[in-house]
Amino acid sequence: MSKKIYFKTFGCRTNLYDSQVMKSSLQGYEITEKEEEADVVVINSCTVTNGADSNVRSYISKLEKSGAPKIYLTGCGAHTKGEQLLKEGRVAGVFGQSEKQKINKLLEKPEGFYEIGDLEFVDDSVVGEFIGKSRAFIKIQEGCNFRCSYCIIPYVRGNARSLDESKIIEQISRLAANGFGEFILTGTNLGSYGVDTKSSLAKLLKKISYVRGVRRIRLGSIEPIQVTDEFKELLDEPWLEKHLHIALQHTSPKMLRLMNRRNVYKQDKELFAFLREKGFAIGTDFITGHPGESEELWQEAMQNAKELHLTHLHAFTYSKRDGTPSATMKPQVDGKTAKKRLHEIEALVKEKNYAFRKALKSPLQVLIETKKEGYYVGYDQFFNQIKVQSNIDLVGNWLEIEDYEVKEEANYANFEA
Ligand code: SF4
Repeated sequence: MSKKIYFKTFGCRTNLYDSQVMKSSLQGYEITEKEEEADVVVINSCTVTNGADSNVRSYISKLEKSGAPKIYLTGCGAHTKGEQLLKEGRVAGVFGQSEKQKINKLLEKPEGFYEIGDLEFVDDSVVGEFIGKSRAFIKIQEGCNFRCSYCIIPYVRGNARSLDESKIIEQISRLAANGFGEFILTGTNLGSYGVDTKSSLAKLLKKISYVRGVRRIRLGSIEPIQVTDEFKELLDEPWLEKHLHIALQHTSPKMLRLMNRRNVYKQDKELFAFLREKGFAIGTDFITGHPGESEELWQEAMQNAKELHLTHLHAFTYSKRDGTPSATMKPQVDGKTAKKRLHEIEALVKEKNYAFRKALKSPLQVLIETKKEGYYVGYDQFFNQIKVQSNIDLVGNWLEIEDYEVKEEANYANFEA
């Protein structure tokens, strides 16, 4: 009987993608979704904050108590904590993300190993299917050339490298032939695609749109300066989702400088106004409670955020990561204040999202992803959730919905066959 293996993925979409690659490369194991029955557990870890590191440690402790499967560690945490965990005998082996396609060989090793691989590595794996999902995540680049003060990612994922264009197209063509219509492009710093290959995100997008079966392209997070003139020319294309996630991280000019961000609030404001004119919904990332965020700067940031066209938000309270410039910055902001600010900005964007949905005039193009609590649940072109009641199975279907009810938490509709 083959051994059962469980993949535990922490962190971001890049890790989700890497876990998918490992699963596709694996042979001779049965992949299980139940960690309690696994003989082997591969932890694809995240190290983005000190908290993320301790999550991985406590997960290992939990496994150790539960019957001790063989544990392997990969992902970003392999670089920062792997050696130590191996030394302590808590994991059977450690490997970097560049080694993921060799997973079979690595798991066969009789002794402990530390194969951290290469930070210059460029992925060339092609994932054929994302089981159980109607949309596929496609990694197009790896690494980041930015050096935001609070972020450890460039040190564990390396500088920006683009994946080979023909591999990306091959991967998407394969998935589109398997019935996938929506593609979500991801990467550590997605918008820097092409800086090392004399190409660009816009050029790649155009090529992807030519692939037969590609219906909608959604982008992970991009940076304001990556919305170039070339990119702006694509904004009216029907295959581009009418929602962009543009990472600001803050809206106080002084905080942006402290965080060593490359965006400038005045320009961000102009860009968001331009995108609003084009009918886009816009999401952003935001960190509250970074060192130096005084009450005065926070009030300024909130005032600025009120003026911005924002419909979605991915906000976090600042979490210290040793080894980054922010970790030693002063004055620090206490956790309670950071959380209060987080709730404040979340409430603001929730309100803005509701207002945006109420004011919409265009029909919704929806891809139904799953069924939950009696509703078929999907997302429209503005990345808003819709819950549909129907007498037929809608999972995986595209719908055009004109009649729907806008409620604060989501949109609702009925669909009768
Ligand atoms: S853009 Fe900044 S926050 Fe994002 S990965 Fe690069 S350094 Fe980290």
